[in-house]
Amino acid sequence: MKRVLITGVAGFLGSHLADRFIREGYHVIGMDNLLTGNMDNIAHLFPLKEFEFYFHDVSKFVHVPDNLDYILHFASPASPIDYLKMPIQTLKVGALGTHNLLGLAKAKNARILVASTSEVYGDPLEHPQTEGYWGNVNPVGPRGVYDEAKRFMEAITMAYHTYHGVDTRIVRIFNTYGPRMRVEDGRALPAFFSQAIRGEGLTVFGDGSQTRSFCYVDDLVEGIYRLLLSDYHHPVNIGNPNEVSILDFAREVLDLVKNPKAHIAYKPLPVDDPKIRRPDITKAREILGWEPSVPRAEGMVKTYEYFKQVVK
Ligand code: UDP
Repeated sequence: MKRVLITGVAGFLGSHLADRFIREGYHVIGMDNLLTGNMDNIAHLFPLKEFEFYFHDVSKFVHVPDNLDYILHFASPASPIDYLKMPIQTLKVGALGTHNLLGLAKAKNARILVASTSEVYGDPLEHPQTEGYWGNVNPVGPRGVYDEAKRFMEAITMAYHTYHGVDTRIVRIFNTYGPRMRVEDGRALPAFFSQAIRGEGLTVFGDGSQTRSFCYVDDLVEGIYRLLLSDYHHPVNIGNPNEVSILDFAREVLDLVKNPKAHIAYKPLPVDDPKIRRPDITKAREILGWEPSVPRAEGMVKTYEYFKQVVK
């Protein structure tokens, strides 16, 4: 049985990855310090002998007994509001945490996949974003703590690959949605669903003309799984190129939830908020034979089912 370590296992993506790897017959060692993770996301895994959990902050030295085949580094705060509240932890888990896990990968002779992000492109001046684009990031702005930690993550991962010969993979993840997103994490989708369900104003920042491209979590997990098992060590964008303005996205939530009290409530645009974002997924198509298959209308219905249960 192959053994995989997943950091950030109690988070949105980490928990879905754990489910997938258990289904594929792996032994999953999950690690989380529960800074933004939620034990409810992995409670169903605890009875399984194929799953074990370590409560640990990976920005400190990481010890795992016995052998490891794969490491997936998914621990990090992941919403702009979280970066504002936890800037130092965000920097540490992306930088020191990645260093520790690369060291672990080297010691265990394990393959490591690190979760990078479309935020490495910052407020992009090229559209859509190909992996060849170097980005437009403000290092000292509020999002810089995340963006620069992830850029460092990519740099140190490539350095471990070229200098130490560690077997590495880098995924650049674009906006992803689905069940288990944290209700109060402040990102657009959890905010809009919870506000619509409660009959409140949907807080559209700015005039809502800024765009994002949302990928359903099952599609993302499939792309990551394929990348891990590929032999490609340069960064690969995984995301859904179907781009939508934030205002239209809020309207889609209103149409789905149909709460007569819910409405659009405009709020100021946060500093350095990227104006446009859409992945070019040519590489993922060519190298992994991957492209998203879940249309937003379908993914949003599944996601609404989840938020109906958890929003109080
Ligand atoms: N946004 C919004 N209202 C909210 C939360 C976010 O209008 O309550 C906007 C935000 O300004 C950004 C987009 O939605 O333009 C996506 O924001 P999110 O925090 O989900 O992720 P980002 O892609 O910015 O990291």
